[in-house]
Amino acid sequence: MEGRIQGAADALFRSRFAIVLTGAGMSTESGVPDFRGPSGIWTRDPEAEQKAYRSYDRFKKNPKEYWVERLTGPSLLGDLAGVSPNPGHLALAELEAAGILKWVITQNIDNLHQRAGSKRVIDYHGNAFKLRCASCSARYEPTDFDFQEMLKKGTLPPLCRKCGGVIKSDIVHFNESIPSDVSALSLEAAVASDVMLICGTSAVVYPFANLPRIAKRHRRESSLPFTVIEINAEPTPLTEQNISDYLIQGKTGEVLPRLAAELKKKSI
Ligand SMILES: [Zn+2]
Repeated sequence: MEGRIQGAADALFRSRFAIVLTGAGMSTESGVPDFRGPSGIWTRDPEAEQKAYRSYDRFKKNPKEYWVERLTGPSLLGDLAGVSPNPGHLALAELEAAGILKWVITQNIDNLHQRAGSKRVIDYHGNAFKLRCASCSARYEPTDFDFQEMLKKGTLPPLCRKCGGVIKSDIVHFNESIPSDVSALSLEAAVASDVMLICGTSAVVYPFANLPRIAKRHRRESSLPFTVIEINAEPTPLTEQNISDYLIQGKTGEVLPRLAAELKKKSI
């Protein structure tokens, strides 16, 4: 493993446009429950999974009810504000501050990369702490609206101040498309990258899973350098399909700080 961390540090040190894709594995180390793991939210409560599948449909059919339910029901993820970034998140923020990492593209909705100090974060599946207009994709902070007042007066759902469209959670629900600004920016970053780290995700959820695959094909066809380094607890389809050049097997909260330490040595 030491040799592979060294190799990854070398690749990042030489890179011109390194990006990282992250997934649930990064957040479970902070105590955020995953969905389909052995003690995942949906493994324990299949009804919650059925409910999640219906969220977007409910929003489209009756946005008022969708909002009343969100404001009065239990939160699916528990208290996300109560968890903290772990050493893996901090190491990625450090790599960005050092000018090495250009983007974090995350499947996680928990805002932990931003809280760790990463500035260039693309929330591929949305952010649990933001709201988004379903028509024009304008983003809002939850504090931009007085939800308790709206609930009391029956004036839900909140409406977009730019276009009058209906506002929903920024979280991308099942059957909902990835917002076009997010998918365009992610694709642009992926095909421009010469080094891609993939941390804590098996990248099997589409269209996110397309990012390394499309980037690999594009870079190969254009004879451009491209190295994919996976940091995951177990081998994944990316490992098996040779999408990744190699796997550093371990916890992101342990491997990433070691990688950042190696890079620090190089830049001194
Ligand atoms: Zn709008």
